[in-house]
Amino acid sequence: MRNSEIVALLRARGGCARSSDLFAAGATKNDVRRSAAAGEIVMVRRGLYVLPGLPPTLRDAAHHGGALTCQSALRHRGVWVLDREGPPHVWLGAHGREHSHPGCRCVVHWRDGAPALGVLDVASALVHYYRCGGSEAFFVALESALRLGQIGPAQRAWIRHRLPRSARWLVDFAVPTSDSGLESLVRLRLRALGIETAAQVRIAGVGRVDLLIDGVIIIELDGEENHADPAKRHRDLRRDAAATARGYTPLRFDYALVVHDWPTVEAAILGALRTRGRRIGRDGDAPASEETPAGPVLPGASRR
Ligand SMILES: [Zn+2]
Ligand SMILES: [Zn+2]
Repeated sequence: MRNSEIVALLRARGGCARSSDLFAAGATKNDVRRSAAAGEIVMVRRGLYVLPGLPPTLRDAAHHGGALTCQSALRHRGVWVLDREGPPHVWLGAHGREHSHPGCRCVVHWRDGAPALGVLDVASALVHYYRCGGSEAFFVALESALRLGQIGPAQRAWIRHRLPRSARWLVDFAVPTSDSGLESLVRLRLRALGIETAAQVRIAGVGRVDLLIDGVIIIELDGEENHADPAKRHRDLRRDAAATARGYTPLRFDYALVVHDWPTVEAAILGALRTRGRRIGRDGDAPASEETPAGPVLPGASRR
């Protein structure tokens, strides 16, 4: 078997393979030895080969004896996850074998199934993430996967079925239209407070806002990438002024506030609702609709 064919075999398996897999596919010991000597593949331990340049987390997972899963697999596949990059989360199946390796900090998942190498699919990784990261982390990643089109109706039902009954509402509450992970998180936390939100609402004279509460309070969520851009900041200030002029209360929060200082965010939203004389949750006002400013009109202001 040629070197290029062995490389293709590894690539098809997510960049890593056991020598037994290579032999089963028709490679001989000599073929494997020759590819390794040529630097086309790298032996990380006896009987395990990876492609050079494999991401370190994936290489560590293979070295440890399993496949990347949970938040590590989701991040690897481009899904937005709440947890910051940390040690690889490795799935070893029900009865896999752990291997020690230098600098090992792997978080090991033992779940049903035969151990594999590579990267777990998004649906399986999400189920593992629910057990490991909890409801919020799971929900945020699920909405990101939906937004990216990585989860279809069949996988969605599959995931739902594998969650405890008490958690299945998370799947039902998820939408593919959430604009960011922060938006997913805020929607979920406000729901827990009994506050309904409308997402991605277009308001005449303001534009599309992230979340609208009770038709009057606008929640804008700033991604981490926006901090240093003066033009973006100017646009945001202008939008806030336009919203305020139309009788809305714009509130703006960033990643650090939402993730690390939620009490401040919650107090601001509840305070704004109280200032409006609103109870928490629905109070019978008409909901905001597309292109229609639903905010109360200030004395002297005119509504178009
Ligand atoms: Zn390890
Ligand atoms: Zn995990």
